[in-house]
Amino acid sequence: MMAEGRAELRDAEARVAALEGARQAAGEARAKGDAARAEAEALERAVRTAAAAAAIFGKGGAQRRLAEGALGEIEGQANELLGECEIPLSVRVQWAREGSGVAASCSACGEPFPRSEKAKVCARCGAERGPNIVHSLSIDPSAQSGGARDLAGIFVQLAAAAWLVADRDAEWGCALLDEPTATLDSFNRRALSAHFSQILSRVGCTQALVISHSSDAMQGLPGRIEVVSDGQWSTARVTA
Ligand SMILES: [Zn+2]
Repeated sequence: MMAEGRAELRDAEARVAALEGARQAAGEARAKGDAARAEAEALERAVRTAAAAAAIFGKGGAQRRLAEGALGEIEGQANELLGECEIPLSVRVQWAREGSGVAASCSACGEPFPRSEKAKVCARCGAERGPNIVHSLSIDPSAQSGGARDLAGIFVQLAAAAWLVADRDAEWGCALLDEPTATLDSFNRRALSAHFSQILSRVGCTQALVISHSSDAMQGLPGRIEVVSDGQWSTARVTA
C-alpha cells in the first residue's frame, strides 16, 4: 500500500510540475502578445502622426499655401510683362489641379480613405472626401503653339527671378538667357527683342547675358559681341 501511495504521489508531483511549466509558458506567451500589441499600437500612432504631419506640412498643406501665394504673384507679373510687350498671350501658373477620381487620403487629417469611392467622409475626422488633387506645377499659356509655350516659359522664369530678387531683398539680379527667341515667329521675336532691356531691368536684372543666333533679337540690347564664322575661321567683334 505504501509503495502504491508513493507512486501516486510521484505521478501527482510530475503532473503539478507539468502544469506549472504550462502555466509559465502561457504567461510568457501572454507577455509576448502584450508587447506585440503595444508595439502595433505605437506603430499605428506613428503612422497617424506622419499622415497628419504630411497633411499639414506637405504638398497639399503649408507647401501649397506658400507656393500658391508666390505663384499668384509670379503669374500676375508674367502677365503684366507680356502686356507691356504687347504680346497677345497670357499665362496661368498653378500648383495643384483636379485629377480624375477621389482623394486617396483626407486633406484635413491625412487618414487614408478606403480604395472604394463609396466612402464619402473621413472615418477619423468626418471631413468630406474631396476630388483627387494632383500637386505638380503647371504653366498654361492661353495659346498652344510651341512658340507660345516658350514665350510663356521665358516670362514666367523672368517673373520668378523678379520674385526671388524681391523676396531675398537682393541688391542685384543676373539673367542668363540662351536662345530665348529661337522658336518664336518674327512678330513675337521682334516684340520680345524690342523690350528686352526694359523687361530685364523691370525684373531686377542689372546684368544679363543673352545668347542668340538671331541678330534682330540682339538689336535692343545695350552691348553686343557678334561672332561670325566663315566655315574655317571665326571672327568676334564688338558691335555696340
Ligand atoms: Zn480626416
